[in-house]
Amino acid sequence: MSDLLIVNGHLVDPANRIDAPHDVLVREGRVAAVDRPAAFEGVEAAETIDASGLVVAPGLIDVHVHLREPGQTYKETIATGTAAAAAGGFTSVVAMPNTVPVNDSVAKLKWMLDPARGAGVKLFAMPAATIGSMGIELTDFEALHRAGAVGFTDDGKPVLEDHVMRAALVAAARAGVPVSQHAEDTRLTGGCSMNAGPMAFRLGLRGMPVEAEARIVERDLRLLREIERAEGLRPHLHVQHVSTARAIDLIREAKREGLHVTCEIAPHHFALTEATVGDYDTHAKMNPPLRAEEDRARMVEALVDGTADCIATDHAPHAAFEKRQEFERAPNGITGLETALGVTMRTLHREQGLSLSRIVELMSAAPATIASLAGRGAVGVGHYADLVLFNAAEEWVFDAESSRSKSRNTPFDGAPMLGKVRATISEGRVVYRSFEAALT
Ligand SMILES: [Zn+2]
Repeated sequence: MSDLLIVNGHLVDPANRIDAPHDVLVREGRVAAVDRPAAFEGVEAAETIDASGLVVAPGLIDVHVHLREPGQTYKETIATGTAAAAAGGFTSVVAMPNTVPVNDSVAKLKWMLDPARGAGVKLFAMPAATIGSMGIELTDFEALHRAGAVGFTDDGKPVLEDHVMRAALVAAARAGVPVSQHAEDTRLTGGCSMNAGPMAFRLGLRGMPVEAEARIVERDLRLLREIERAEGLRPHLHVQHVSTARAIDLIREAKREGLHVTCEIAPHHFALTEATVGDYDTHAKMNPPLRAEEDRARMVEALVDGTADCIATDHAPHAAFEKRQEFERAPNGITGLETALGVTMRTLHREQGLSLSRIVELMSAAPATIASLAGRGAVGVGHYADLVLFNAAEEWVFDAESSRSKSRNTPFDGAPMLGKVRATISEGRVVYRSFEAALT
């Protein structure tokens, strides 16, 4: 007998070029069969979910989350962060290493990935590129990769020194994984708390110039070229949370040139502008900061034209007391796992007419490829049964109080959303549902 049968849904699986009504049969945590409606009539399953009116898609994948464990479990834990992920339709998340202590060793990586942490969806991690994320000495890429690392990053900070970034790209290329770069020339942004421009000037806040992002992207692309030429390797640079037109233009050029560069854009960077800072709203404070309307529009353009490879939330929980401070003192970051699909559907699907297939590609198929998550990001036979069922037409309002995350720091509290997650299935287990499935 099969474990789970999902019937009457509309399957959107860009990796297999399917955008049509299909039923899905799940056995032992894997997709056992995918076929036209009613093809599995008479097949016995422990549970049948009637997905009438719902999109069935590969579970969403977020290559950029901060789960705060170990060290800052008052903000979030692996269990609460992955519960928020499940509620948002995510079945895989990639944890950043800026925990306390920094995830920079095999022992720490293994501790984080241990099932005892209680992850509700599949947890992956990118350990630090340098010891303590200090930007000086590389971590042991080979050993960490063997222990499950899907990439390396000092996120929260850039790898600033040329020779260190060069060595990181070479070591990552040998392991076959990307270096994920937080592209910020911190020599230009010290003491800054929002985007540079007239708005920061009026508020009396020091602003981060757009050049700070572009400069690091430009330098990293130059390193890719040099390494290809000198070492005969093909390093993979992944640029995190791109927020400026200047950086996206550089990435577009580099792709044309044939360099192995990918990038992500966060929902807040294509849905909001620096105007959201309003009168010093710390829920609009993150790094990179919300930018001007021109940059926001160019992020949308990049997602539509294919320059941007994927959407990642940069889910960054902080306690209420931390955000309840003067703007310049409050920490950077907002939560994002439960609002990503709703914001993306509203902004890119409804307002820009982006197809469901492209949205699923941006939020599942592409991130699976970027982080080489084998058997995920598609609904093929033999793949993990990681699925999200959502009503693409349903409008709803996000209530931060109802969040599964431990934290509530979001500028999307009370914001209108489009596309409601009805069920999330991780390796064949229903890990979130917001309706009573028809049991047969
Ligand atoms: Zn970052």
